[in-house]
Amino acid sequence: MTVETRKVSLTETAETVLQRRYYLKDAQGHPVENWEKLCRRVANAVALPDRELDDYEEVRDHFFSLIYSLDFLPNSPCLMNAGTGIGQLSACFVLPVEDSMEGIFTAVKNGALVHKTGGGTGYSFSRLRPRNATVSSTQGVASGPLSFAAVFDVATETIKQGGKRRGANMGVMRVDHPDIMDFICAKEDQTRFNNFNFSVAITDEFMQALYDEREYALVDPVTKEIVSSLNARTVFDKIVDLAWHNGEPGVLFIDAANRANPTPQLGEFEATNPCGEQWLLPYESCNLGSINLGNFVEGGRVDYDRLARTTRLATRFLDNVIDCNVFPIPEIKEMTMKTRKIGLGIMGMHDMLIQMGLSYASNEGRKLCAEVMKYIRTISEETSIELAKVKGPFPAFDPAINTYTPRRNAALTSIQPTGTVSMIADCASGCEPYFSIVMVKHVMDGDKLLMVNKHFEEIARAEGFYSTELMARVADSGTVVGHEEIPVKWQEIFCTAQDITPSDHIQMQGILQQSGVDSSISKTINMPNTATKEDVRLAYLMGYEMGCKGLTVYRDGSRDGQVLNTKSAS
Ligand code: ADP
Repeated sequence: MTVETRKVSLTETAETVLQRRYYLKDAQGHPVENWEKLCRRVANAVALPDRELDDYEEVRDHFFSLIYSLDFLPNSPCLMNAGTGIGQLSACFVLPVEDSMEGIFTAVKNGALVHKTGGGTGYSFSRLRPRNATVSSTQGVASGPLSFAAVFDVATETIKQGGKRRGANMGVMRVDHPDIMDFICAKEDQTRFNNFNFSVAITDEFMQALYDEREYALVDPVTKEIVSSLNARTVFDKIVDLAWHNGEPGVLFIDAANRANPTPQLGEFEATNPCGEQWLLPYESCNLGSINLGNFVEGGRVDYDRLARTTRLATRFLDNVIDCNVFPIPEIKEMTMKTRKIGLGIMGMHDMLIQMGLSYASNEGRKLCAEVMKYIRTISEETSIELAKVKGPFPAFDPAINTYTPRRNAALTSIQPTGTVSMIADCASGCEPYFSIVMVKHVMDGDKLLMVNKHFEEIARAEGFYSTELMARVADSGTVVGHEEIPVKWQEIFCTAQDITPSDHIQMQGILQQSGVDSSISKTINMPNTATKEDVRLAYLMGYEMGCKGLTVYRDGSRDGQVLNTKSAS
């Protein structure tokens, strides 16, 4: 059987990204691949675990066209390393940090080995004894979790991941750890912990204390003794204050995550990967991949049949990645093989909405996205159940505890940032709305280039309201809203991350989480510069109440050297 491949054309930006970081290079540093060769390399490597199966060649060709057509892209380490000597294909790892010198420095070492191959690591510092607790072997006092977190930070800084990716870490501390106030304030000084995202693991008990306006207990994680208490409102206000100030710390709702833990028999979730979309047990890893929803609208409708075929193939692809992966340390291999988690996500969700003529901030828009995510989750689970019949369920599956049908993978879906792969696919990242519709790119000799969103340009030209002058004004104001020449309908549909309200952002995250996401969602709740601390407080409460498993807010302009800017990009 011949497998049909959709035609593809890569943008200039995609080619540049691929040449710099993804195509294999010769000794002189010149790329020796193109997009087709890269896709063949990845498809061949990932199909290999199926070489004994009857449909091996067909599956290999399907994997090729899946990626080549930009309908689905696996996470960066898979695109970079599959079929090469490195062979480490996962983006996410969580490593335990035990309360001992040996334990802490083992984690530093293991983290370094993960970063070397392009993976990101999450650590919980909650098990470490608090600052000034006694150290029995030396009769001294402990320097505390934050002083050790600094060691992880420096180690990350030193390993630049083969020049392809700067290392990335998530640092988590439970809200009932005695050092929590130090942790919350740790990134107030923006020169510190730059290789970390910090998130506070918020418990239901804390939230109850907050609603009841009372104190809650701080517990020494080693002795399990209550050492003191804090007013929940004081702590919450501090988190809100600093998140308002520069976007950190984020919050993770750890009890919500653990309620959805598919293998509680193996342990509890303590931390996520760096961008927060994947909860993992200590030593678990997970490989990710995203379906490009922008490619699934035909004649104003979502092509569900093709989406189903893509979801089945993508699920099988990600499951195969586990078997051809080269794991950095034996503990990670053992744990990952027990649960076989995958993270199937989406990108180009906003492109889908735009093509359907729906606003990101509308009820209809949210309903469609929830329906699509639920559909992907259902088909992916069906596929995982089918795979279990052929290849066996994930080994830790225990019918006495796990009430779901035996399947090949303990977790199936999560929504990733797709920071780089969405640039390759030329679509909006993950489940985010576009950040801007027209940008000014500064090129050589001080020249400026207008970068117009592809959908907007097409519509503006078709409807006759395109002009360079208008595009320049849109770039200058940072929004399509309020320009007379642009029909109101398009002003609504082309609303960006900055035009919609924080509540619109959270409602989308909440509905996606509830409808079809096993793990979690990486999403930024964008706020205007004028947003108040009360806005941030209400956002966190709303996220918790909607069942989100974590939340990151960002107030425009609040961080030094802000990367994304509505008005210019270089
Ligand atoms: P990509 O688009 O490059 O595949 P994403 O932006 O979707 O990656 O990020 C997915 C996950 O990959 C993150 O949550 C994190 O675990 C990991 N990751 C992202 N960037 C880095 C990095 N620079 N170093 C290490 N891991 C990273």
